[in-house]
Amino acid sequence: MSAPTKHVRLESLGPARVPETLVVHEIYASVQGESTFVGVPCAFVRLTGCNLRCTWCDTTQAFKGGTRMPRSEAVARALAFDTPLVEVTGGEPLLQPGALPLLNELADAGRTVLLETSGERDISGVDPRVHRIVDLKAPGSGESHRIRWSNVEHLGPRDEVKLVLADRADYEWARDVIARHRLHERAGAVLVSPVFGSLAAQDLVAWVLADKLPVRFQLQLHKVVWGEHTQGV
Ligand code: SF4
Repeated sequence: MSAPTKHVRLESLGPARVPETLVVHEIYASVQGESTFVGVPCAFVRLTGCNLRCTWCDTTQAFKGGTRMPRSEAVARALAFDTPLVEVTGGEPLLQPGALPLLNELADAGRTVLLETSGERDISGVDPRVHRIVDLKAPGSGESHRIRWSNVEHLGPRDEVKLVLADRADYEWARDVIARHRLHERAGAVLVSPVFGSLAAQDLVAWVLADKLPVRFQLQLHKVVWGEHTQGV
């Protein structure tokens, strides 16, 4: 693994001026904690920066800082873990222009590639080999108004929609959104999970069963294994 280069402020980077570099918060291997790939060994490339501020965000450490490195180095470090899955996440990875070629190159390497995105950026330019896991921010996040609804039109069977719910009001919002946009017919899976420490998992399960909601309930496996506040696992 090559040594990290200097730390930079993300705000100082011009948008399209650095296509060959990325600002990376961390690259590490673990098991996938969410999605239909849960439990599968995965290398994570976490890019720095996010333009949202979800009330319950658990990766605020990735908002700033990071290490600027050539994209080729990020690819090499992720592939070196030799995991079947590679996920590009953040922060919001699509804020960086180098994220799209990064996804291309990881897919070219023959890995199953996941992208975790807030749903605020346009996902239409993402390599079609990539499994896009797209958040739809419920009102309890404080960022519901930032949803890019046009992304829904681009969802396909390879993609997954993720709804993180803080309370009953969020649940009812999600139930309506799923029905209105037929999300379960557009995407390969619709994932619902409770905000850790805010909504009881038992309550969400009961509501899903009562409404026969066409979703997949999930908990964040990495928090079960390593605890709520552990990072880089
Ligand atoms: S989009 Fe993700 S990284 Fe950004 S504030 Fe929300 S939860 Fe945190």
